[in-house]
Amino acid sequence: AVLAFLDLDNFKLVNDTLGHAAGDELLKVTATRMRASVRKSDMVVRVGGDEFILLLNGLPCERDVVLARLEDIRAAIAAPMQINGRSLQISCSMGVACFPNQGKTVGELLANADMAMYRAKELGRNNLQVFTEEMADKAHEKLLKQAELRQAIAGQEFLLHFQPQVNIESGRVFAAEALLRWRHPERGMISPGDFIPLAEETGLIVPIGDWVLRAACRQCKAWHEAGLPLLIVSVNVSARQFRERNWAAHVAAVLAETGLEPRFLELELTESLIMQDVPGALATMHELKAIGVHLAIDDFGTGYSSLSALKRFPVRRLKIDRSFVEDIPGDVDDRAITAAIISLAQNLGLRVIAEGVETQAQVEFLRHSGCDEIQGYFFSRPLASADFEALLRQ
Ligand code: C2E
Ligand code: CA
Ligand code: CA
Ligand code: CA
Repeated sequence: AVLAFLDLDNFKLVNDTLGHAAGDELLKVTATRMRASVRKSDMVVRVGGDEFILLLNGLPCERDVVLARLEDIRAAIAAPMQINGRSLQISCSMGVACFPNQGKTVGELLANADMAMYRAKELGRNNLQVFTEEMADKAHEKLLKQAELRQAIAGQEFLLHFQPQVNIESGRVFAAEALLRWRHPERGMISPGDFIPLAEETGLIVPIGDWVLRAACRQCKAWHEAGLPLLIVSVNVSARQFRERNWAAHVAAVLAETGLEPRFLELELTESLIMQDVPGALATMHELKAIGVHLAIDDFGTGYSSLSALKRFPVRRLKIDRSFVEDIPGDVDDRAITAAIISLAQNLGLRVIAEGVETQAQVEFLRHSGCDEIQGYFFSRPLASADFEALLRQ
C-alpha cells in the first residue's frame, strides 16, 4: 500500500481572491476528481484545510509504479475547472511513503509522507517527493540544532560584539552596531549566519532578538554612565520580531527598563522586511518614531523598494549594502550604484553609511561621493565589549 499526503498549492489564493464559496467549490471538485481517479478499494480523506490523504491499496512498493499512479492523479487534479465562470488550474504538493520500505505502520507512513510533503513544499509548488532516510536525518538534525538553540537561550551562551560606526570626515565614533555571537560549549564561537536562519524559521529569533535588544540597550546605558562619549547603539531586527503584536510598545518598555533614552537607539530594518508588508511596516515604523527611536534601512540596494515608497518611510539613515562597497573602486557598476544611493539619500534628506569598508581606496571614493559615515574592517572589526570600551577611551 502507498500513502500520500497532498496539499493544494493555490487554495488560499482562490479562497482569498474569489471568496469562500469559490474555495469550497474548488475543494469539492478536487475531492471528486481524486475519488474518480482512484479504485474502489482506495481511500481519499480530507484532513482539514486543503490537505488530503490518499491511501492506495495493493500497490507494490516500486518507485516507477507508484509514481505513474500518482502522476495520473495529479493530472486529474490539474485539469482546468470552471469556478465562478472562470477557468482555474490547480496544482498540488505531494509527499509519499510506501509500505513496507518507508513505514511499517500507518503511523510511520503518515509521519514519513508528511515529512516528504514538507520537502515538496520547500522545493516549490507542483512537486512530488517520495520519503527518503535522508529526509528523516535532516529533520532529526534540525530538531537537535533547535534544541541546542533553546539551550543557548537558557544557558546564556549568547553575547554581543560591537562594531564602530564612524564619521568619515572626523573619524569620530558615533555609534556601535550590536552583532550577535553564540559561544557554543563545544563548537566555540558561532557567527550569526550559521544560526539566524534556523532561529528565523523556528520563531526562536523572537526571544533571541529580545535578548539582543535588552543587552544592547543595557550596554549602551552603561557606557553613558561610565562617562564615555554618548554613543548610539544600533540593533538588527528580524521580520518575525518586527511583526510581533505591539512590538513598538515592547521596545519602549525595554528602554524604560534599561534607562536608555530612545534617541540613543537605532533599529536596523532590512529593505525586504519592509517590502513584505509595506502598510503594516509603515504603521510600526511610525509608532517607533513616535517613541523617539531612530530607524535605518539595512542592506540597502539589495531589495526592491521603490523610490516613492522610500520617501514615505520614517527612516533617518540608509546603510549601503556591503556587496556594492566590496568591489569599489574597481567595478564600474558598483561605483555607479553606490554614488547613486548616496545622492538619493542626500536628496531625501537621509544620512547614509557604507558598510563593509575595508580599504583606503574605498574610503576615498566614498568621501568623494559625499558619503557621511563608514563602518567596516578598515576602521575596526566587531569587538568584544571590553575592547570596544578600550577603543572609546583611546
Ligand atoms: P549585517 O547586519 O549586514 O552586519 C554586518 C556584517 O558584516 C557583520 O557580520 C559584520 O561582522 C560584517 N562586517 C563588518 N565589517 C566588515 C568588513 O569590512 N568586511 C566584511 N567582509 N564584513 C564585515 P556578522 O556579525 O557575521 O553578522 C551577519 C549578519 O547576521 C548581520 O548582517 C545581520 O543580518 C545578522 N545579525 C547579526 N546580529 C543580529 C541580531 O542581533 N539580530 C538579527 N536579527 N540579525 C543579526
Ligand atoms: Ca495549501
Ligand atoms: Ca546590520
Ligand atoms: Ca548588511
